[in-house]
Amino acid sequence: MNKKTVRDIDVKGKKVLVRCDFNVPQDENGNITDNRRIVSSLPTIKYLMENGAKIILCSHLGRPKGEVKKEFSLAPVAKELSKQLGIEVKLAKDVIGESAKELTSNIKEGEVVLLENVRFHREETDNDPEFAKKLASFADVFVNDAFGTAHRAHASTAGVANYLPAVSGFLIEKELNFMGNALENPERPFVAILGGKKVSDKIGVIDSLLEKVDTLIIGGGMAYTFFKAMGYNVGNSICELDKLDLATELMEKAKAKGVKLMLPVDTKVGKEFDKDTESKIVKYTEIPDGWEGFDIGTETIKMYEEELKKAKTVVWNGPVGLFEFEQFAVGTNSIAKCLANVDAITIIGGGDSAAAIEKAGLSDKFSHISTGGGASLEFLEGKKLPGIECLQDK
Ligand code: AMP
Repeated sequence: MNKKTVRDIDVKGKKVLVRCDFNVPQDENGNITDNRRIVSSLPTIKYLMENGAKIILCSHLGRPKGEVKKEFSLAPVAKELSKQLGIEVKLAKDVIGESAKELTSNIKEGEVVLLENVRFHREETDNDPEFAKKLASFADVFVNDAFGTAHRAHASTAGVANYLPAVSGFLIEKELNFMGNALENPERPFVAILGGKKVSDKIGVIDSLLEKVDTLIIGGGMAYTFFKAMGYNVGNSICELDKLDLATELMEKAKAKGVKLMLPVDTKVGKEFDKDTESKIVKYTEIPDGWEGFDIGTETIKMYEEELKKAKTVVWNGPVGLFEFEQFAVGTNSIAKCLANVDAITIIGGGDSAAAIEKAGLSDKFSHISTGGGASLEFLEGKKLPGIECLQDK
């Protein structure tokens, strides 16, 4: 993607408003339980510090829905950032109020100020132009480094770019490099694995990937709608009866495009939605009444692994089974292990597949794990993301 980054502009002495994703999980005492989002924002912030910028950070945290709520304050983030950067990060008491004005007007080169949670104002998610203008008035340049919210047209993710020159930070640059390259110029064979609950959530992605991949592998709850469309019994498995025609159309499209569409040949079914439920592996054509498909079976795992070993680029979005229950996590874990060892560019499209890889302790074995669930899905769909579109072209 041809978007300018912080490297392409002179930031010396400039006030730079950086939209980060500091939406970190916390325990009931406000302790941050996973600081990865903060850590991954450091390269951009450090670069700006080293190059003499005056840094004004902003982010959302949770869903305060336009109200000031203490439990959604960015105070714990300011503390963690100070620790990580080795300097005091000053937290404004508000977003566009007196405190923010004062701190941002007195800021010096290399200093860092954090504004309070942008979602304390409803105008943020409404992308209110006046609010965006006020936010922008603190700075000379806008840097977007929050990929997780790039698919939202909010004031701090896109609106401010109407008033300031806008470029990307290093996190967004990395997302665009990996995912953009995979989609525009993949090393082939290019294989995509799509899992997750429903076909309806992934129609756009399937449709768009059928234009680009050599092989499309389907797993998860989605598969049963395809089986049903082929005329087979799916028992109590997740199945979208109103999407049968669509599943047929997608199979026909794959054929017409010469894309190898792979569906499970066996499935692990359970009696009930329970972690200890009785389970067995059956052929996809023989799902018994009263049973529910929760994972791909052994034959399918083998077949998918063979295909993945031949790939040169792999994009994976969505677990291929109910991986939260150990006995139905076998498929997802096997795919994760296989991908960790293939000689290919491996890209994980955020969300639950990233969680599964994390759980398996394999995070460092992939070329790229996207930081945005919804955003990466929309990116793979070929949609234009407002937080990216608003950035200057190179
Ligand atoms: P998604 O958000 O669409 O990627 O779906 C992820 C969720 O789908 C996870 O919570 C998985 O446990 C769930 N899932 C995947 N396969 C199945 C299945 N066969 N039956 C029920 N849930 C599933």
